[in-house]
Amino acid sequence: MFEVVAEDHLGRIGRLRTRGGRVAETPLFLPVINPVTQDIPAGWMKENLGAEAVITNAYIILRRLRDEALRRGVHGILAFDGVVMTDSGGYQVLEYGGVEASPEEIAELQEEMGSDIAVPLDIPTGLCSREKAEESVEKTLRNLEITIEFLRKRGVRRCLWAAPIQGGIHLDLIHRCANREKVMNFDLYALGSPTPLMEGYRFDKLFQMICAARSAVGFGKPLHLFGAGHPMIFPFIVALGVDMFDSASYILYARDDRYMTETGTIRVEKLDYLPCCCPICSKMSAAELRQLPRDERIKMLAMHNLYICFMEVRRVKQAIRDGRLMELLEQRARSHPSLYQGFIEIMRNEDLLRLMEEGAPTSGRRGVNLYDEVSLRRPLVRATRKKLLENCLAGRARGGEALLLPETMRLSLEKASRLPENLDILFYGSPYGLIPLGLRYTYPFSQTNYPKALLDERLDELLAEAVKQFEAAGYKRAYILKPETRRLERFEMELARRLRELGVDVMELESLKELVGGAGGGDGRNV
Ligand SMILES: [Zn+2]
Repeated sequence: MFEVVAEDHLGRIGRLRTRGGRVAETPLFLPVINPVTQDIPAGWMKENLGAEAVITNAYIILRRLRDEALRRGVHGILAFDGVVMTDSGGYQVLEYGGVEASPEEIAELQEEMGSDIAVPLDIPTGLCSREKAEESVEKTLRNLEITIEFLRKRGVRRCLWAAPIQGGIHLDLIHRCANREKVMNFDLYALGSPTPLMEGYRFDKLFQMICAARSAVGFGKPLHLFGAGHPMIFPFIVALGVDMFDSASYILYARDDRYMTETGTIRVEKLDYLPCCCPICSKMSAAELRQLPRDERIKMLAMHNLYICFMEVRRVKQAIRDGRLMELLEQRARSHPSLYQGFIEIMRNEDLLRLMEEGAPTSGRRGVNLYDEVSLRRPLVRATRKKLLENCLAGRARGGEALLLPETMRLSLEKASRLPENLDILFYGSPYGLIPLGLRYTYPFSQTNYPKALLDERLDELLAEAVKQFEAAGYKRAYILKPETRRLERFEMELARRLRELGVDVMELESLKELVGGAGGGDGRNV
């Protein structure tokens, strides 16, 4: 039903197969469609955006289109043959105070009209007190039990059933809810996100909720996020382990005259230019967009907003394939201080980082770009340093000697073989610490790019890492070749000083000639 085909940290590309045999690739963005108004038809989304899935509301269908749904199926109503997920309508409870339907009625309709992915009637927590949140969790769990029992009695299931995880910002409640659901035999999980969090840009809270849900349910089944809001958070929720997410913001923003970009939202009246080349924006100027009749303008804005959402999903997928999802996060985090805040908290969460390190890519088709100290906290960097320390360097030398060369120097294995045999060759001055010659030209060492300012700004940290590795390796003597370029001068001097402090016998070399000079050594510089 769900198969993971590529991974980058906790983000993954997967293939979801429904009981009816429809297939969609995750991370999957499902635009919300009102089944009555169908402002932008699902067919248009498929044709123009390659939409593989949409989500609509079972409760609205029950109240307004029940007979037609039973006759034509939900795919008939939407004129869409892709994956259709139906939300139970529990959200209406939050918005309008109640639903007049039982869990059984909602479940039966979803099965009968052929939803690909169905959600039992739940009680969304929203943003509320702990007491109320607890109540919503208990009521939701009771509804889930009723639904499961109903489905058991019915026999064959047509839908994949998603277990809604409630609890709002109360992380222990999310844990409790998810843990109880794990034994209920659902096909996937769906975390309820309180819309006010998004509107208030409380991304840090949202990210914590996702982590709580993911850690509770594990990684075997897909995790959906209800109400993912703006595309600026798509890379983040995917990196935290969300496989699917829906959003109505494309149309809600359009009705409010708001124009999406991948990093924010701009009011239409403030736009002098349309910073996008989608088919909508290519056809008209900002002034022309403003002058359209309201209904037409909403439609154009909604379509443009959808293009932005789908483009961002593709970008996220490519980043996963390239092993560069965290890099995309670093760039996107700069979209808004609140997003940066949420990101920094991700990068300071030791438990989460350890979990991410396990999924850090071990190979990549494209280079690794590091920018600043936040980059150095990336799970890939941490995992690589750890591997160097524990697998490659610990106990390596047993009292031997090391030759430390500047990271900027190129040394082929053939040339290295002309150096004295008892020397272990390591490169200094990299963000990963000391790199043994045998690994120097492998991933990620040979493909890592970073500004030289990073070395100066984080000198202490990088030196400490190198010294720790050197100490763990157990060398008693070090020959350090001074760098030819100024970039590494400070690094080299400090490294020599700290190693001496450690009691290591350090020789600083002006050139390799000093090491291999004499009989047969030739010109050291040319080694
Ligand atoms: Zn556009």
